[in-house]
Amino acid sequence: MFKVYGANNLHTIPQIHLLTEEQQLAIKVVAQVLPFKVNQYVIDELIDWDNVPNDPVFQLTFPQPGMLDEKDYDELREHIVAHKETKHIVNRIRQSLNPHPAGQQTLNIPTLDNEPLEGMQHKYRETVLFFPARGQTCHSYCTFCFRWPQFIGDNDLKFSSSESTHLLNYLKEHKEVTDLLVTGGDPMIMRSHHLAEYLLPLLAPEFDHIQNIRIGTKVLSFWPQRFLTDKDSYALLELLTRLVRRGKHVAIMTHINHWQEIQTPIAKEAIRRLRDTGAVLRSQSPLVKHINDDPNVWAKMWAEQVRLGIIPYYMFIERDTGAKKYFELPLYKAYEIYNDAIKQVSGLSRTVRGPSMSCTPGKVEIQGITEIKGEKVFILRMLQCRNPEYSYQTFFAEYNEDACWLDDLKPAFGESKFFFEN
Ligand SMILES: *Cc1c(COP(=O)(O)O)cnc(C)c1O
Ligand code: SF4
Repeated sequence: MFKVYGANNLHTIPQIHLLTEEQQLAIKVVAQVLPFKVNQYVIDELIDWDNVPNDPVFQLTFPQPGMLDEKDYDELREHIVAHKETKHIVNRIRQSLNPHPAGQQTLNIPTLDNEPLEGMQHKYRETVLFFPARGQTCHSYCTFCFRWPQFIGDNDLKFSSSESTHLLNYLKEHKEVTDLLVTGGDPMIMRSHHLAEYLLPLLAPEFDHIQNIRIGTKVLSFWPQRFLTDKDSYALLELLTRLVRRGKHVAIMTHINHWQEIQTPIAKEAIRRLRDTGAVLRSQSPLVKHINDDPNVWAKMWAEQVRLGIIPYYMFIERDTGAKKYFELPLYKAYEIYNDAIKQVSGLSRTVRGPSMSCTPGKVEIQGITEIKGEKVFILRMLQCRNPEYSYQTFFAEYNEDACWLDDLKPAFGESKFFFEN
């Protein structure tokens, strides 16, 4: 097994001397507030140490000083240097980082016999999200992670043996659900037989309505060994093959932020093995400053994904949580990057939707920027909505150069509300 690092054993990273003392201290300061974990594979194979700190995978995995507000950073740094208690500062900063965006905690929890079901979300009619408790961690953590609170011990899901029973009972009663989306953390961190506990029962006739099983994962980037040399790699590939042969569409929803993550021979071999199971690979990624805010990076990434057999699916706008200030881009810029990237690739890469924001009312895609009757506007489309009637409805917002999220936008043409606010 490869070694895993955090703030406590940072000094044992073989390449750490390539960072200055101040850079090392900065990692420790920020890691007090936000999760930090990185493994030897990422360090040795994905990061170009000649290009640190600008290297995109370094930015993706190592905490950066700019991720905290300058005042907060200085205060915390000073306390750490002086070996003073930091707990109260850390808690205060965390609370200021919008730990639970888009009503995730309160609005989407399904119930069974009037009991709330932990570890599940049912926001859009046809899709249920399932967060198996054993899958709520990752092989490394992304600096921009929007699920960061669960990795710092806040709001963690406890495993219970009745977890799969709850999931299956809920799905059995909800024939409108066609898609199960297993997510995390990273569900691929689970042992294969645990994953099988949730998924194999879906082959029974009462689950015929569950046509599609999606598994969200970043394991292709952070631990492609999962499909090659883990002791249950073969069992995992067998499980996927079996689900496909028995008529399920299995979609591996890969999370890839930069083409650098899928260049290693081992990542390419992992992709080949996954494709051999008959599963379909799709990719989704947020657009993140310092990591992939460049149309050429996206164009190259999509083209490479298509070549390897991964279908580009979503480009997301970074959510309004965590170190968003460091990673966010204005909406007009996100649209420009998408547009400049999509023009460079062939139609096979143009399956990617976005840039899209996952907001409280739904997923909102920026479709364009134009002028209508003398007013400059964003053309928006509701891709997914709590109310299924509203899906794919187009609407308009006043153009605003500073807007980074739906909350920053106002309806165009002097209207007082967006259509979904009625
Ligand atoms: C994106 C998302 C889905 C799936 O939407 P698709 O457009 O079908 O990919 C389901 N639930 C939630 C909460 C989501 O954010
Ligand atoms: S893989 Fe996903 S859940 Fe895990 S750290 Fe990255 S963004 Fe967060």
